Amino acid sequence: MSQHSHVQRMSRMMLKTLRDDPADAETASHKLLVRAGYVRRSSAGVWTWLPLGKRVLENVARVVREEMDAIGGQEVLLPALLPRELYEATGRADEYGDLLFALKDRKGVDYVLGPTHEELFTQVVKDQCSSYKDMPVILYQIQIKYRDEARPRSGVLRGREFHMKDSYSFDTSDDGLVASYGLHREAYQRIFDRLGFDYRIVSAVSGAMGGSASEEFLAPAAAGEDTYVQCPSCGFAANTEALTTTVPPAPLDGHPPVEELDTPDTPTIETLAAHLGVPASATLKNLLVKVDGEITAVGVPGDREVDLGKLAERLAPAEVEVVTAEDFADRPDLVRGYVGPQGMTGPPEKRAFRYLADPRVAPGTSWVTGSNKPDSHARNVVCGRDFEVDEYLDVVVVEPGDPCPRCGAGIELDRAIEIGHIFQLGRKYADAFELDVLGQDGKPVRVTMGSYGIGVSRAVAALAEQTHDELGLCWPREVAPADVHIVAAGKAKQTELALELAGKLGAAGVRVLVDDRASVSPGVKFTDAELMGVPQILVAGRRAGDGVVELKDRRTGEREELPVDEALARLT
Ligand code: ATP
Ligand code: MG
Ligand code: MG
Ligand code: MG
Repeated sequence: MSQHSHVQRMSRMMLKTLRDDPADAETASHKLLVRAGYVRRSSAGVWTWLPLGKRVLENVARVVREEMDAIGGQEVLLPALLPRELYEATGRADEYGDLLFALKDRKGVDYVLGPTHEELFTQVVKDQCSSYKDMPVILYQIQIKYRDEARPRSGVLRGREFHMKDSYSFDTSDDGLVASYGLHREAYQRIFDRLGFDYRIVSAVSGAMGGSASEEFLAPAAAGEDTYVQCPSCGFAANTEALTTTVPPAPLDGHPPVEELDTPDTPTIETLAAHLGVPASATLKNLLVKVDGEITAVGVPGDREVDLGKLAERLAPAEVEVVTAEDFADRPDLVRGYVGPQGMTGPPEKRAFRYLADPRVAPGTSWVTGSNKPDSHARNVVCGRDFEVDEYLDVVVVEPGDPCPRCGAGIELDRAIEIGHIFQLGRKYADAFELDVLGQDGKPVRVTMGSYGIGVSRAVAALAEQTHDELGLCWPREVAPADVHIVAAGKAKQTELALELAGKLGAAGVRVLVDDRASVSPGVKFTDAELMGVPQILVAGRRAGDGVVELKDRRTGEREELPVDEALARLT
């Protein structure tokens, strides 16, 4: 490899760093990846990867590829543009609902942009494999996925267009599936170890994928949108989503008619709980219902409704509005609990308008705005009467110190980012597409499948969340856009030395970013170096003339003055 492929001169790079955080940024990774010139927002949840960002993204992809290849995965690339009928055949068009980007071609044929690819992979294997001898098969791709997320936020942590590694295993027996799942689980551990993650493996719900066994790889971080429980005593760990249970739909009996809703008999969480036959005690903090396939929140008596609302949001691709306790405390004119259909954003009036325009809302319904935040609720609406309810969901309380479902010891709670997810799907997709191969006895065998995802672009942001400090990004070695960031802090002499060092390191295979920008002050260069987060910073400065440079560890901040040769020896 030529040295040029290892040396990147900042004087020739397209790079603009920013001193200020982007106005809409809430999470550290969002702020820092934008400020350090790694990514730029194109539109909501859609991102451009700039040169530095692309390198980090590729580094993550490389590690994923190496470990997938090591378990016998075969890399393929399937289209992102997919016939909608595939997703109708498995019922996932409905399950994903508005999350699916849908489009038509010029002839009016319906397509979707793939949110995940179980359907097409099943078809590929049906076409390519005919015998038990062709199994097991593990196929994977690293590809752009599309999901019209209700609230894309947090930068590349939750994109509407994002990069995913998705793999699929095909086996002829249940034991085979368990083995393929095990291989993936181990590969994922190697991947996340190598990438430098702090992570946990937790039980998960299977969600829209269908299927039974499923685990998530969670990276603990305050910016995470998942909450997980773990037991310090027995090691039990689960996403709180996994603790949600579903109650079959039933009519809501005994609701007072609309005129009487302002009375103390107003249906409350307790009456709903009684109706559902679940305890209205501390074990039921929130009640959610699904209306037309979308989750809607009903009644929240406790004080943790915001978190639970977020939790609810992740249960389905629906926007869930949260009803806060304050809304009800002194307001008998409010119906307890009822909030609206998906996609209501913007000012309350606008939402009210959309709400009231909904033909399902009973006459007499009016609109109120909560006192605590710009938040709105319809009045005099009864869920189950004015809306059909498909399903009731209740969220089991999860509080620190609650008994662990396995051993009874007090559990702990934490926030995390979902970076990977592995599923034993079973025969759901094989059944939908009649995927059989000829068995050993010459009779057809139905194939059993697993599917396994890693958020490649999300991993970049999740690592930034876990590793940054107050100065900026701080990459683990394996994903860093370079090994060494050389700063020419001075005039011609310093620049000359910096480039000479860059050349030598590059020739030795070290990946170098060299700040040889002529018009930029040393102070700005130092600030940029900290912000960009390359693990080692080498400064050609004051003592360049004596052949002495400074080597700084980005993470620890430790710095040392060294003769040039010694610095080179350290870095190669
Ligand atoms: P989430 O709960 O965060 O919405 P998910 O459970 O819907 O994620 P999966 O269907 O399990 O996601 O997809 C596999 C992986 O793809 C996830 O573990 C995550 O790392 C990544 N991923 C999912 N949605 C997004 C997104 N909108 N942006 C970036 N990465 C994503
Ligand atoms: Mg999701
Ligand atoms: Mg999830
Ligand atoms: Mg998932």
